[in-house]
Amino acid sequence: MSREVYEVYAIKYATREGTRSGNFIGGDPHDAPMPMDYFVWPIRNAERTFVVDTGFSAAMAQQRKRTFLRTPSAGLALLGVRAATVKDVIITHMHYDHVGTFFDFPAARFHLQDAEMSYATGRYMRHGRFNHGYEVDDVVGMVKLVFKDRVRFHCGSAELVPGISVHHIGGHTAGLQCVRVATARGRVVLASDTSHYYEHMETGRVFPTAFHVGEMVEGYDKLRALAESPKHIIPGHDPLVMERYPAPSKDLEGVVVRLDVPPVS
Ligand SMILES: [Zn+2]
Repeated sequence: MSREVYEVYAIKYATREGTRSGNFIGGDPHDAPMPMDYFVWPIRNAERTFVVDTGFSAAMAQQRKRTFLRTPSAGLALLGVRAATVKDVIITHMHYDHVGTFFDFPAARFHLQDAEMSYATGRYMRHGRFNHGYEVDDVVGMVKLVFKDRVRFHCGSAELVPGISVHHIGGHTAGLQCVRVATARGRVVLASDTSHYYEHMETGRVFPTAFHVGEMVEGYDKLRALAESPKHIIPGHDPLVMERYPAPSKDLEGVVVRLDVPPVS
């Protein structure tokens, strides 16, 4: 019986300055810089390629004052992944920094939780408190893709293909999902915004953008239950990911790291 395993990568496409006080509910007594990185995560083996999240565009980087490094599609091209031909994209949630360049994937179907679509189009979006992470044009764009039968809805946990599954977490947004991937080193979990930084899941604190704080804290236990070990959980925005994992080649240092191999530090 063959066991499907995959390579998994983090591609850094943008970054921004930040402070510790801005990254935790309740602030932080030791305020200091705490920058944030932005990633997309391709998963592949000889049979198939999945992409987790589609980042944001240069125009959005300018609008939201982020430091833009490359388009997500250009980042993927560095690994030989052509956005134009990718067939499966997993959208962890529809915040601007996770769904923003969906239009660069014209051949893809988009895997999304039922709860995320209903959250992003429902009553809570009346409030700036909950809508500030969304761009209405992204949400409308995904609704249009529903009408073209290009959104594959999931509810809870679902195995998409052998070795790749999605798992509803909620918390940060109502329909946030994480992704579990079978790799040569065991089950790796792409947490996305279930844990923005390692510190969130390690200390049980939460990022200020929150729909349901209880689900956020419970989410850390869900990540640990899904992953081979805590060292197999990849936070969604932590610059430490770039330090802890090796680049796949010398020329990609500082841009891409490989997550299906053990961390180097
Ligand atoms: Zn995010």
